[in-house]
Amino acid sequence: MKRQKQVILENITVEDYAAEGKSLAKIDGKVIFIEGAIPGDVVDVLLGKNKKDWAEGRVIQIKLNSPLRVQPFCTHFGTCGGCQWQMLPYSQQLFYKQKQVTDNLQRIGKVHLPPIQPIIGCDATTQYRNKMEYTFSNKRFVPDDVFRKMKAAGEDTDSAVFKDVGGFHAKGIFDKVVEIDECFLQAEPTNLLRKAVAAFVKENNLLFYDIKHKTGWLRNMLVRMADTGELMVNIVINHEDEPARIKLLDHLLATFPAITTLLYTINPKVNDSLYGLEPITYFGKGFIIEKLENFQFKISVKSFFQTNTKQAEKLYQITRDFAELTGTQTVYDLYCGTGSIGIFVSKHAKKVIGVELVEDAIKDAEENAVLNNIAHAAFFCGDTIKICDDAFFAQHGKPDVIITDPPRAGMHEKLVHKLLQIAAPVIVYVSCNPATQARDLSLLGEKYMVTKIQPVDMFPHTLHIENVVQLKLRN
Ligand code: SAH
Repeated sequence: MKRQKQVILENITVEDYAAEGKSLAKIDGKVIFIEGAIPGDVVDVLLGKNKKDWAEGRVIQIKLNSPLRVQPFCTHFGTCGGCQWQMLPYSQQLFYKQKQVTDNLQRIGKVHLPPIQPIIGCDATTQYRNKMEYTFSNKRFVPDDVFRKMKAAGEDTDSAVFKDVGGFHAKGIFDKVVEIDECFLQAEPTNLLRKAVAAFVKENNLLFYDIKHKTGWLRNMLVRMADTGELMVNIVINHEDEPARIKLLDHLLATFPAITTLLYTINPKVNDSLYGLEPITYFGKGFIIEKLENFQFKISVKSFFQTNTKQAEKLYQITRDFAELTGTQTVYDLYCGTGSIGIFVSKHAKKVIGVELVEDAIKDAEENAVLNNIAHAAFFCGDTIKICDDAFFAQHGKPDVIITDPPRAGMHEKLVHKLLQIAAPVIVYVSCNPATQARDLSLLGEKYMVTKIQPVDMFPHTLHIENVVQLKLRN
């Protein structure tokens, strides 16, 4: 194989934020996408890709710090891939998220736009997550540069790497884990729990999982906490060892009286996904209840629920406002997950019809409807493009409002065409990816006008953006 020559560009002034964590600079009209830089930085960049009109690379040295830069508040920033923007003050993060929405809708959308409302930021920019998933491993990730420095200084690299740790998967590294001392994204006792589990397993000479060789015992831990005060912990082990398991679980219950439900899951599979596995309740009711306004939602280990509770409430309130419900409408909630949006708007609707691919989510949606005494909602399992046909709309009623909240890929073109044909007077499009949303809005432009746009930040210090758009059928 021919080895490509390394190209390093020096003293590049970063001009703007592009997308997906990359900033951009221009050299003689050629666009360079740069990872690890922010606008205003002057950097040296090692190119990974080098095409005729564009190139892509990563920062190898910052020559001059952007005046925007601040000191990241977490010592793991840069090694742990969880946060990407701690070097940007929160006000600037919001500025660039707003700009992302504007750029995408203007450039890709090519539809007439009303003014874009200023993005709704979070009041709490740390400890905002209600869910964390940690991984335990017998190998610790040490970044390349640190590793090389240790080697050069004659330090013991083996004991730095072969170490039982709890934390997060390192980006792009499958068999090692970034050891986390304190993560600021979830309130305590999240870090205390992770450390207590790790310490107990070490003290009792039990084994941390070896991701490469698929051996060992302790694998993962999920911590879910609700604003209601309920706290769920699920411990994932590779195989059953009853005495050890009971000892660990009892130790956790004794140490953390705040735990309202404790579960364990045996995962002998090669991957961490809980798909197909059965979490077993050791203590408590096996789920937690979260509240948004006066609505209650049952959250099990495997349920999907928006990870920022406070912002989810705001997001759903905007969605409900944009739906302009008066109590007489038939509302379709497409990509409904556990039915949370449909349930949240239900008091103002005549009828709610939810559609979702994942069967477990549909079961949760049905239970959530019962929990909230909602009898005029029904949920259907399947792919939106298969379920939403003429017979389906004929059976459940012509939609007055369609709420759609697709995954990052956006809506399937077939569904967009179906929505154009069905021609509901109002569509509310909730999106976690403004690029695909813009593409879909452009198609919907055939019959619809974009009438309201409200970006919402659900995930401070990350690149994720949520955007709600109201569309109205043109007369
Ligand atoms: N509206 C929900 C969930 C949105 S996440 C909430 O706010 O909680 C997007 C959802 O789309 C996921 O639950 C995912 O399982 C579902 N999904 C993905 N592809 C789908 C498809 N082709 N048809 C139906 N649902 C799909």
